[in-house]
Amino acid sequence: MRQDGTGQLIDAYGRVVRDLRISITDRCNFRCSYCMPEEGMKWLDRPELLSFEEIERVVKVLIERYNFESVRLTGGEPTVRAQLPLLVEKLAKLKTPSGKDLDLSLTTNGATLRLLASDLKNAGLSRINISLDTLRQDRFIELTKRDQLHNVISGIHAAVEAGLQPVKINTVVMRGVNDDELVEMVRFAREIGVIARFIEFMPLDGDNSWAPSQVVPATEIVQKVTESFPAKQISHGSDPAKRYVFDDQKGEFGVIASVTIPFCDACDRIRLTADGKIRNCLFAVEEQDIKTILRGNGSDDDLAQVFENSAKSKWAGHSIGNVNFIRPKRSMSQIGG
Ligand code: SAM
Ligand code: SF4
Repeated sequence: MRQDGTGQLIDAYGRVVRDLRISITDRCNFRCSYCMPEEGMKWLDRPELLSFEEIERVVKVLIERYNFESVRLTGGEPTVRAQLPLLVEKLAKLKTPSGKDLDLSLTTNGATLRLLASDLKNAGLSRINISLDTLRQDRFIELTKRDQLHNVISGIHAAVEAGLQPVKINTVVMRGVNDDELVEMVRFAREIGVIARFIEFMPLDGDNSWAPSQVVPATEIVQKVTESFPAKQISHGSDPAKRYVFDDQKGEFGVIASVTIPFCDACDRIRLTADGKIRNCLFAVEEQDIKTILRGNGSDDDLAQVFENSAKSKWAGHSIGNVNFIRPKRSMSQIGG
């Protein structure tokens, strides 16, 4: 990796890193079985979280020095962080060196979105991904440990009404859990004009019980959906989701095949945890700290150096399914999905 005047952060394999995922909290109001255990989570203390000003400074450095154009806020559940629209407003004001707006997005479980969607849109949020793994109330309660399906559905409608564009619904597909709902989920998404996206179940669950047999491969997902809704694949660039446009032109759906067809070759992401650690991969086993720099009068050069070091050590790809795969110590909610 070099900062060679091209204004790009380039890793050891020549991939340009330009997409930042920021976890703004490790806390959550749900307990999705594939993400965190029902009991016993130890939350970060409030002072350990990066402040909005610290987050803003990091994003500014990445935009100015490395032409980052896209930032996604996630968690834990980002909407449980107080004053979220304020952070969105701060980040939305940052322009790219070419004067473009930042592509600013959010991933949320949608539970309180009915109350927040228009504030987020007004604050400058561009687009939104809402997680929804089932349309059946009993299953929803079993999966999330919360009786909140009605609120998530209202939140999805509120996001559409607020004009967030596009609205995507993320569904983690698990064998024997919700793999019989793929077509229903697509039908629901098409009816309200949002994009359904299916995600292969990854070994980042809270209780470490993931097994390959629980993964429904992307090929099977596509086959099941297109039997009911014929669709053709289109180019997806560096988007990890393979995209399929319906033959009747009523929208599209996507599949993220992180396990069976990893997209590491095209990965342009880097992650910042809520407590100020840089992770160069979802599955990274090492992290680099920037909170000490942010709180210790470190310079922007110091910050940039840590990002460069992190990019330099980014591996070619994860090895889920291989004997040498090491599961990260943190679960998905602690990393920021
Ligand atoms: N709380 C927010 C939400 O649920 O959308 C944002 C954080 S969540 C960790 C981000 C995304 O990661 C969600 O779409 C969730 O479904 C997905 N996710 C969590 N654990 C996963 C796992 N083990 N495998 C695949 N996706 C997972
Ligand atoms: Fe919370 Fe999102 Fe994890 Fe579910 S997937 S427990 S909503 S952080």
